[in-house]
Order: sequence, then C-alpha cells, then structure tokens
Amino acid sequence: MTTRTPTLTRLAAALFTALALTACGGGDDTATPAGNGGPPLVVDADGNSTFDSTVLGTNLTALPSETLSAAEQSSLLYMREEEKLAGDVYARLGATWGLKVFTNISASESTHTEAVRQLLVRYNLTDPSANLGAGVFANTTLQGLYTQLVAAGSVSLIDGLKVGAAIEELDMLDINTHLKTVDNQDIRLVYDNLLKGSRNHLRSFYKTLLQQGGTYTAQYLTQAEFDAIVNSPMEK
Ligand code: ZN
Ligand code: ZN
Repeated sequence: MTTRTPTLTRLAAALFTALALTACGGGDDTATPAGNGGPPLVVDADGNSTFDSTVLGTNLTALPSETLSAAEQSSLLYMREEEKLAGDVYARLGATWGLKVFTNISASESTHTEAVRQLLVRYNLTDPSANLGAGVFANTTLQGLYTQLVAAGSVSLIDGLKVGAAIEELDMLDINTHLKTVDNQDIRLVYDNLLKGSRNHLRSFYKTLLQQGGTYTAQYLTQAEFDAIVNSPMEK
C-alpha cells in the first residue's frame, strides 16, 4: 500500500465509488458455456487479445435469448464505456510515449468495447458511446477517470506503463464484481473473454515495465492474484 502513488490512490477511490454505483445484489454463478463457432478472442505472440466480431457473432447467435436484469443492463452500459476508456487512455499514452505496447493494446481494446456493443445491439439497448469521440464519455465517473489516468500516465514512461497495468487490474476487478450478478450466458461469454484479454494485457504491460527498469506492486488485485497472473504464460 505504501508504494501507491497519491494519484493511483485517488483513482482507486474513484473506481470503487463507480463499482459501488454499478454493483447490485442477487444473481448466481452460472457456469459459462464454451461458445460455438470457435474461440472469439485471438491472441498474438505479444499477448494482444482481439475479438473476432464475426466469430463472436456466431457464438452469440448460438446462445439463447434471456431476460436482461437491471443489474445486467447497467453492467453492459458501464462496461461498454470502461473498455472504451482503456482503449482511449492507451491511444493517448501511445501518442505521448511512442511505445507500441500502448498502441497495440489500444487496438485490442477497440475490439473489447465493440464486443460489448454487440451485446447492446442484441438487447436493443441504446449505446451510451454512440457518436462520442476519443476521450469523451457519457458516464461522468469514467470521464473523470480518463482525465486522471492520462495525467498520471503522462508523468513518465514508467508511470504510463504503471497506468496500463492498473487499468487492467481495475478492469478485472470490475468484471469479476459484475459477474456476481450477471448470469446470462451471452454476457458471461464476453466477460470471460474480456478477463482473459486483461490477464494477457497485464502480462504485456508488466513485462514492458520491467524491461524499462520499473517496478510494480498490485494496486487492486491481491499481490498473490497479481503474481499468479504475471508469472504464468500468455493465454492463447
Ligand atoms: Zn479490455
Ligand atoms: Zn486490456
């Protein structure tokens, strides 16, 4: 805890507030089925984890239409913009630091937010991000987080990579919280793949951070959870 920078600590407080707003009670932990039509997430040698929207569409079509709970609806609206947040922050930091880990993972995140958008279409929900440019969000909490994250990551390249790792941790924490109330199979399929992508992206950011001479301790996961991820190979 003592290694947290003040900015990241403020970030944690803001995110936990966001989590408290979106997390609702109830639900059960239904097992997630393997999708039909092949794996929807494609992982390259560097760990960039990208959805194939056509394969995902085939996977989703094969799953039953289920009733959307209020918790599931708010989760989808939030995750659409949280995945956009990751992509937009990395694009901005990529422009600042000129390191391909940012631009490559930003491109992957574009497919993550698109995967959630596919679910919004499937449930006839209005897309909160429709017509919003880079760095612009309908959710005011995420808008504030974007500003804080870009500022924190613009201090130095090492800080930029730490922000990358922190965003992936936050993403996993958020999705795992939402999975406690999400039982629809199609949403769980997308979320499980988003988690896998985040584990791979965390491995990429952490590896690059070490290569640049930085150090990092877990910000949101437990240190044991963090270590188990970064000390295991990329998931294909
Ligand atoms: Zn993502
Ligand atoms: Zn990611």
